[in-house]
Amino acid sequence: MMRRTMTMAALGAVAAMTLAACGSDDGGEVADVSASDFEAGTTMAALAEAGTITIGTKFDQPLFGLKPPSGDPVGFDVEIGKIIAGELGISTDDINWVETVSANREPFIQDGTVDMVIATYTINDTRKELISFAGPYYNAGQSLMVLSDNDEINGPDDLAGQRVCSVEGSTPAQNIADNYPDATLSLFGAYTDCLEPLRNGQVDVVTTDNVILAGYVDESDGAFKIAGEPFTEEPYGIGVEREDTEFRMWINDVLEEIFEDGRWLDAWNETAGTVLPEATPPSVDRYEVS
Ligand code: GLU
Repeated sequence: MMRRTMTMAALGAVAAMTLAACGSDDGGEVADVSASDFEAGTTMAALAEAGTITIGTKFDQPLFGLKPPSGDPVGFDVEIGKIIAGELGISTDDINWVETVSANREPFIQDGTVDMVIATYTINDTRKELISFAGPYYNAGQSLMVLSDNDEINGPDDLAGQRVCSVEGSTPAQNIADNYPDATLSLFGAYTDCLEPLRNGQVDVVTTDNVILAGYVDESDGAFKIAGEPFTEEPYGIGVEREDTEFRMWINDVLEEIFEDGRWLDAWNETAGTVLPEATPPSVDRYEVS
């Protein structure tokens, strides 16, 4: 009995040390701010006061948002989320990560399930009717992924008669439906749903943004490759409530600051930059909501 008690105490000590290490390891920088540093009534003040924020991100996209079996997601989008939370005085441990797939991003913002979405989320006019975007904070482009021994497909003009896999509610799927009607399009809920069908020959191509596909190629042990060059522009924004211009502009301020002070590049180099080439920050677009 004595021995067991000691073991439990020892375990408790180890657990406490592990927790402390986690907190400092991925805690990121937390600004010394409180709610009173923000204008009363703003989302920034409310979040700083609450000391917690709910962020929607992808859970199945290496390099940008990938959730391990236990623990928080990792990736470039996740790092951007941690920086924004930190600027509100919220530590990484107090971020509530919620999985957003492509199709539920607008509804999750509109119904308040999340405070913001950072999820390889292309800024476009259709979406701007429903929500607002801070950013962009990265410019991607639609691309194609095939089996490594496939030399038939080298760009979107080779898609006629091909079985193409993508995701509901995504801009790449919409582009194929609108502009490449001779392709046979299969839509799933998330991009990882397309990987096994590609591997076993049920589909010929997976399409989404180049940087998402690069993560799957990297994890495929040589089974997959990118076919051709990107053929659209996919500027990534941070989705917030449509009318919340103050919050959007404040996030834009944070983005411009981290583009300048090197935090954006550090976040890139620690995540997506381990596989993708060095990147440069884009220019923020402070558009007006009509
Ligand atoms: N960036 C595109 C989009 O927002 C494709 C990636 C995704 O589905 O997350 O639809």
